[in-house]
Amino acid sequence: MTGRLAVVGLGPGDQRYLTAEAAAALAEAHALYGYGPYLDRVPARASQSRYPSDNREEAARAAEALHHAAQGASVAVVSGGDPGVFAMAAAICEQIAAGPNAWRALDVVFVPGITAMLAVAARIGAPLGHDFCALSLSDNLKPWPVIERRLDAAAQAGFAVALYNPVSRARPWQFASAIERLRRHLPARTPLIFGRAVGRPDERVTVTTLDAAANEAADMATLVIVGTCETRIVERPGRSPLVYTPRTIPRAMAEASA
Ligand code: SAH
Repeated sequence: MTGRLAVVGLGPGDQRYLTAEAAAALAEAHALYGYGPYLDRVPARASQSRYPSDNREEAARAAEALHHAAQGASVAVVSGGDPGVFAMAAAICEQIAAGPNAWRALDVVFVPGITAMLAVAARIGAPLGHDFCALSLSDNLKPWPVIERRLDAAAQAGFAVALYNPVSRARPWQFASAIERLRRHLPARTPLIFGRAVGRPDERVTVTTLDAAANEAADMATLVIVGTCETRIVERPGRSPLVYTPRTIPRAMAEASA
């Protein structure tokens, strides 16, 4: 009997965001692996065993899940949002690349989920409506100067930027430093969106500008979208504003900034 491993994205929050494919993959699994709070989102099934682990133990978790699947079990590893975005899918691939040959023979599937930047963007309009990129501000797995270079490049190239992992207890200063870096390239009035715990009961989405960003609190459950100099805020009576990045850049403007 050959085992099976599904790397499953749970989406940003409650069950509404779980795709039908993800729900089926979870229902099929004999064993579930993942960060404890993510596993808690998966409804309990008597026939399943669960192996919660800490946030920082991704490599060990991936190896354990592969080892378990190689024994013939149907295993699911869960990530919040999409597993391919700063999450378990790459950790599983890394372990397969470095691990025993038996792991390459396993049936491995990756089941996409709604990633945080899309959930936050959808709350507010279309801030990622034109070219954009995503950056993790965590310097746990890459040096800070690399992050600074990428922030500079993204802002200079005119991308809207989705900032994942803005803050954690172990990384208190990085977010303020990233904002300061972006100010070097972008107008003070550039729109910023802070989306916290989107898709969960304590969701909070706020719109601000680059010059006022220091007044907004970001934490581990926050995703920040930084607009471009074309991104617009549309105020609406009695409703929250819309934020969007137009899909057209007039030729004259492109030539002026080249
Ligand atoms: N795989 C996840 C991202 C993991 S990195 C995904 O695709 O969404 C963890 C970071 O994702 C957090 O620090 C935060 O920036 C963002 N994030 C995850 N869930 C979120 C949510 N519900 N609301 C806002 N941001 C979220």
